[in-house]
Amino acid sequence: MAYQRPKGTADILPGDSESWQHVERVANDIFNRYRYHEIRTPIFESADVFARSSGETSDIVSKEMYTFKDKGDRMMALRPEGTAGVVRAYVENKLYGPEFGKPYKVWYKGPMFRYERPQSGRQRQFHQIGVEAFGSSSPALDAETIAMARDLLTTMGVANLKFVINTLGDPDSRAAFHQALIDYLTPFKDELSDDSKVRLEKNPLRILDSKDHHDQEIVANAPSILDYLTDAARTHFEAVQQNLTTLGIEYEVDSTMVRGLDYYNHTIFEVMSSSPVFGSGYTTVLAGGRYNGLVEQLGGPDTPGVGFAMGVERLMLLLGDQVEPAQLDTYIVAIDQSAQETALQLATAIRGQGYSADMDFMDRKAKAQFKSANKEGARLTITLGSQELADHTASVKVMATGQQEVVPQSDLTSDFAAVVARLTATK
Ligand code: ATP
Ligand code: MG
Repeated sequence: MAYQRPKGTADILPGDSESWQHVERVANDIFNRYRYHEIRTPIFESADVFARSSGETSDIVSKEMYTFKDKGDRMMALRPEGTAGVVRAYVENKLYGPEFGKPYKVWYKGPMFRYERPQSGRQRQFHQIGVEAFGSSSPALDAETIAMARDLLTTMGVANLKFVINTLGDPDSRAAFHQALIDYLTPFKDELSDDSKVRLEKNPLRILDSKDHHDQEIVANAPSILDYLTDAARTHFEAVQQNLTTLGIEYEVDSTMVRGLDYYNHTIFEVMSSSPVFGSGYTTVLAGGRYNGLVEQLGGPDTPGVGFAMGVERLMLLLGDQVEPAQLDTYIVAIDQSAQETALQLATAIRGQGYSADMDFMDRKAKAQFKSANKEGARLTITLGSQELADHTASVKVMATGQQEVVPQSDLTSDFAAVVARLTATK
């Protein structure tokens, strides 16, 4: 039996990897404009890091986490999301110290792992690109984070964006809402799904996020968090909305939206897009929010935070095959075997000058080599026949115009750019 990749994983092959590189380049560029710097944290952490941040009752910790004991009997986990590891690094490296600027803004990219039922846009190893900003409670920063998400997705070419926001309030708002939810849900206790029965005891807010159909019917009439906000929480949320309007970002408020992870408070948001690839309706590509207590929860000083994570596989489904592989600058054709060594020497010298070059390594006939040059979309073809070998020259042809010239090999090895410029100059 031949080996197969693990269920829920994917090989990203040449042809597709160009799109991934494009997305990563755009992300790098947009994050730069907003002064976010890249952080790289381990792919695995103590399982506790995720349990303490996402919460024991969150889906990712209670059912989806890849955990294992290492040889030292420590319980580890492959990271199911990015924020917890970044916060752990923030605390461990004391990035809250006075020598670091505030807000401290970082971004990350890479694989995440969740044991889920694989389907379109849902894998067990998937990728996120995300951002975190620490140290500011300003509602303007919430709005800036959402604006950055907009820039990111529109620059990548995602259409039909929908911005949905909500607030989970501050701890006092949460406590009041928590009680109202328990009062509302307790009479339905026996009807709730098994998961939600447990959640009712441990974390009733989580029930609002239930994927169970009957749970969803029950929560449809649940009280709204917006009626339980403290003045401070309401003021914050209004300021976020004011800023979004100023930035020209159209949004909807969905008071039933909660996030899958326990650590959020105040502003939460999702950016969705509709596309035939997802069937009817909208799919979330990017989600995030504020998590003001999380740094303290993981052992650091009381520090506000806000961030988002984008699902790259879902983004790829939306983008489709847009990105062409880079064109080849030159293909070197060796008319017979004796020219191969010179061809290799030329190719290497041309690459050394910053151009891409390719040649034959399969002992193909000249005709087949020209075919390869065409297939790779070479801009120039350099041909080495017996005459050229004897004269230390090469025949250079511009494929687009048919313009052709015999040039000394030394021109190609010393100043390839000048040869290209001379041959492509319009006459
Ligand atoms: P969902 O409700 O779809 O499971 P979630 O709330 O678990 O989403 P987050 O933890 O907020 O998702 O992750 C942010 C983004 O990462 C999602 O909006 C989605 O685009 C992507 N994502 C999450 N889980 C997966 C997965 N298993 N495979 C591919 N992408 C994923
Ligand atoms: Mg999920």
